[in-house]
Amino acid sequence: MNLFHLLILVATLLIMEFAVTLFHKYVMHGIGWGWHRSHHTPHESAAWQTNDWYAVVFILFTILLFALGGMHAPLWWIALGISLYGLLYGILHDVLIHRRVRVKWRPTNRYIQRLTKAHYLHHAVKTRHGGVSFGFLYTPPVEAIRRQLRSKLQKT
Ligand SMILES: [Zn+2]
Ligand SMILES: [Zn+2]
Repeated sequence: MNLFHLLILVATLLIMEFAVTLFHKYVMHGIGWGWHRSHHTPHESAAWQTNDWYAVVFILFTILLFALGGMHAPLWWIALGISLYGLLYGILHDVLIHRRVRVKWRPTNRYIQRLTKAHYLHHAVKTRHGGVSFGFLYTPPVEAIRRQLRSKLQKT
């Protein structure tokens, strides 16, 4: 790994957060709601959700990038960045926030608590529209999201 590769990795993580936020807001809560709805309805935490198909599609896509990247090195590093993002997302969102895997670890870290609170506010809305906090590894201060949610609820 050289500095160029490290730069690609960091840039990929940043772009992924931005892209995932938009994807969640406009695709998953838009045309892709059919799959995502399962994640917004009460369910057995460990059970398979239709929403998990998104993860399957992303993993297949990333494997493809790795394969193509074998010939073009920078692409391989982009694929690694996407995998890293996916891993972080899986650990934080599925294990630590939704507790889909039984682990004893309950972090008291302020950053993780902020992510958790912000994500619960996202789940406060069970419908396709009117949601808040679509980002993941970065969220605005929780108070700001709460205000946003309140004003959206007043409008409906
Ligand atoms: Zn959602
Ligand atoms: Zn969630």
